[in-house]
Amino acid sequence: LIRFDRVTKRFGENTVLDDLDFSVSSGKHVTLIGPSGSGKTTILRLLMTLIKPDQGTIKVDGDYLTHEDRGGKLVEAGEKHTREVRKKIGMVFQQFNLFPNMRVLRNITEAPVHVLGLSKDEAEERARELLDLVGLGDKCDAYPTQLSGGQQQRVAIARALAMRPQVMLLDEVTSALDPELVAGVLDVLRDIAHTTDITMLCVTHEMSFARDISDEVFMFDSGRVIEAGPPEKIFSEPEHERTREFLSAVL
Ligand code: ATP
Repeated sequence: LIRFDRVTKRFGENTVLDDLDFSVSSGKHVTLIGPSGSGKTTILRLLMTLIKPDQGTIKVDGDYLTHEDRGGKLVEAGEKHTREVRKKIGMVFQQFNLFPNMRVLRNITEAPVHVLGLSKDEAEERARELLDLVGLGDKCDAYPTQLSGGQQQRVAIARALAMRPQVMLLDEVTSALDPELVAGVLDVLRDIAHTTDITMLCVTHEMSFARDISDEVFMFDSGRVIEAGPPEKIFSEPEHERTREFLSAVL
């Protein structure tokens, strides 16, 4: 469903992704781990087309976001095409990024109404179902500031799901939360991982969560995947010295 072929991304002199290849099959849950600055967030931002690569091919569900022409020059997909690809992807950020001036229900219905063209009633019905799913059925009328960080993050998850994405990108979604609120958010995500067929690409420092939900774990270092495999393998018998060092520092 997602494919990176020889993707390079530089910020000035800093090569953040270095000729990176990887793919994620439909319905799979992949966790990206690795030291700070190794390029994990950059991958999610490329998929959201918030930034573009310097080189390489990025494909989502058979559609190119970028590819290279015969001369090796980067070709970007047109704006309309890019919008269509982005509709397939939901993202949840470390900072919840809810609309502060809108009540919870409207935070969730806004994009389905304006981007997918759902009627207000349809969008609200779906939003209420999703709020029940994330355990916030009684918070429809609250404003984001009236909620805890964990509750706001669960609204952000419901908002991403409301777009019926094929892919969910999760970028350190519990890093900004007080420790006692982390478990509630991870439980919701576990539930989604185990009960839906949404493909997940997840950057996290929560190793036990990664172990629970991942089909595959990619260990990054210096803009490359240095080791990939099922969580039992990566966490229990890592092959690479860098993986062992990283895990002993975080576990
Ligand atoms: P972390 O776990 O700390 O979030 P990461 O693996 O997600 O790390 P990235 O956020 O992808 O790492 O960043 C990789 C590198 O790219 C870092 O060295 C960062 O400083 C650099 N970088 C990211 N965005 C920009 C930008 N807009 N301009 C310049 N440098 C950037």
